[in-house]
Amino acid sequence: MNEVLSTAIGVAEKNGGKRVSKITLRVGALSGIVPRFCSSMFEVISEGTIAEGCEMVIEEAPAVFKCINCGELSEYNEPEHEYKCHSCGSEQLRLLSGYKFQIVSVGIV
Ligand SMILES: [Zn+2]
Repeated sequence: MNEVLSTAIGVAEKNGGKRVSKITLRVGALSGIVPRFCSSMFEVISEGTIAEGCEMVIEEAPAVFKCINCGELSEYNEPEHEYKCHSCGSEQLRLLSGYKFQIVSVGIV
């Protein structure tokens, strides 16, 4: 989250913004980040910065796997102990997305 804060402040400074008003994050299901903790954690670390009190929007992205056996895509919204193709049940899957955590946009005023 510290990285999010410094990136948001960097964006505001580069664009002549006085405050960061809104941050949109996309959090993958396998990113290891718990979405509901993001806002409160950010509130604490942004205190006293130009991002203090900004709105935080969190988009949750599912983990998407491609089956090596049949080629179908399977989505998981939460981490599981094991992953199987929803179509054929194969465990030979390749992770395509859902492991990343990224900033989608930063709103400044
Ligand atoms: Zn399959």
